Amino acid sequence: MSKLIKVLKLESDCQRGANQNRSRALVAGGAGFLGSHLCERLLRDGYDVVALDNFHTGKKNNLNALLRNPRFMCIEHDIVNALPSGLRFDEIYNLACPASPPHYQADPIHTFKTSVLGSLNLLELALQNNAKIFQASTSEIYGDPFVHPQPESYFGNVNTHGPRSCYDEGKRSAETLFFDYSRTYGLNIRVARIFNTYGRRMQPDDGRVVSNFIVQALQGKDLTVYGHGLQTRSFCYADDLIEGFVRLMNAPNAPAHPVNLGNPSEFTIMELATLVIDYTNSRSKIVHRPLPIDDPRQRKPDISFARANLGWEPKVGLRQGLARTVEYFDTLLYGGQLAKGATAS
Ligand code: NAD
Ligand code: UDP
Repeated sequence: MSKLIKVLKLESDCQRGANQNRSRALVAGGAGFLGSHLCERLLRDGYDVVALDNFHTGKKNNLNALLRNPRFMCIEHDIVNALPSGLRFDEIYNLACPASPPHYQADPIHTFKTSVLGSLNLLELALQNNAKIFQASTSEIYGDPFVHPQPESYFGNVNTHGPRSCYDEGKRSAETLFFDYSRTYGLNIRVARIFNTYGRRMQPDDGRVVSNFIVQALQGKDLTVYGHGLQTRSFCYADDLIEGFVRLMNAPNAPAHPVNLGNPSEFTIMELATLVIDYTNSRSKIVHRPLPIDDPRQRKPDISFARANLGWEPKVGLRQGLARTVEYFDTLLYGGQLAKGATAS
């Protein structure tokens, strides 16, 4: 059962948007970390925006400021189920899916359904509306990669039956569906392979490494490095990524393949832990915990395609992005008191 969080007459509002010649965008997963940033950006760019979310990991708090905007509304709905009728859109962004390993592994069957059935529902909606549709795919497509850095042409090395598979294989299947809808119906699709992204509006209990480390450091708890911490990730700041989303969606020609979006600066997890301790002025220590099954050993995007074809590359380095994110968590958790003076960069 869908619930309209901000009660607006959907049909008449659609009409109003059309009359004023404004484009309407749907953001599935719009209450999440990235989704809420995207909604904000699209509103700034002049769109009427509808967020659709089941609030599994997304939070209404993320939308508080947006709900005051008359061009924004939110529908509580699970994309696994048939979508509410009467929805009219020019552009659809599918960001709906838990993205943090503990969250997507908590109900793996629902995670898989979200990627496959949810994508099918949104693709059908795009077809009915003749809308452009964007898929938030992932670097997990590459699994534990043998090719480094990872170009879009690499097919990946993914376990089909491990604890991460619900997410990795779900997202791989979704890519297949997107390209089959494009080949079969000529649907205008855009598929972004997103590499680890962090920033404001991550939840303290998200479970991914950047938020875990910052929250642990601010609370004076030990930082939990899984394994030896020599595995690498390449961390992108959210604002940079959202710019990449918009450029990919607005590119005049749909790329014939998924496009990597991420920051190519690569860090070990130990390096990240040390930076976080530094940026929070924390006395926390580093402790080691078991490495999760199938945890990729290395990850770094080859973004040559995005650079050449979208004119896009990240602008915010890890140190600058961490300083902003520490400030966000400090304000969220402690009203900005604890790390005052420690995050200035
Ligand atoms: P997030 O968990 O904050 O956001 C996901 C949003 O989708 C949440 O608001 C959640 O409630 C919603 N959602 C989940 N299942 C749903 C369902 N069945 N129906 C409706 N809504 C549902 O995570 P995020 O980091 O903002 O990720 C957004 C998207 O980007 C995800 O699809 C994720 O796979 C992809 N992605 C993110 C990263 C990253 O580093 N942040 C990396 C790769 C891919
Ligand atoms: N990680 C860690 N401590 C944590 C959370 C994660 O050492 O508290 C490690 C994790 O094992 C992985 C990396 O950090 O090697 C990135 O994990 P995250 O869950 O952020 O993203 P993903 O594994 O999906 O890249």
